[in-house]
Amino acid sequence: MLYIPCPWCGEREELEFHYHDEGHIVRPDVSVGDGEWSSYLYERENVEGWQRDLWSHDAGCRRYFYVLRHSVTDEIGGAYKVGEKLPPLPVEAEREMGS
Ligand SMILES: [Zn+2]
Repeated sequence: MLYIPCPWCGEREELEFHYHDEGHIVRPDVSVGDGEWSSYLYERENVEGWQRDLWSHDAGCRRYFYVLRHSVTDEIGGAYKVGEKLPPLPVEAEREMGS
């Protein structure tokens, strides 16, 4: 069971949430070609490590937010609101502390 830290409600069980997609995927303008639309719809980075996911708290505040999650271990490294400054990924934070 994952515990997701909603930025508004605090940490709750994963069952209250819905995973949507990798975070920060920008919808292209309607005038772009099929190749770019296809990329937007189907291509994801599929990172092996820390990534930013888009989640919503469906059984709580119903708001969307981003979660820092390790794609292999499912470790949760934090969460932040849409529109907030991007926090560093945990591996980046470790590097910054070590330098
Ligand atoms: Zn919430």
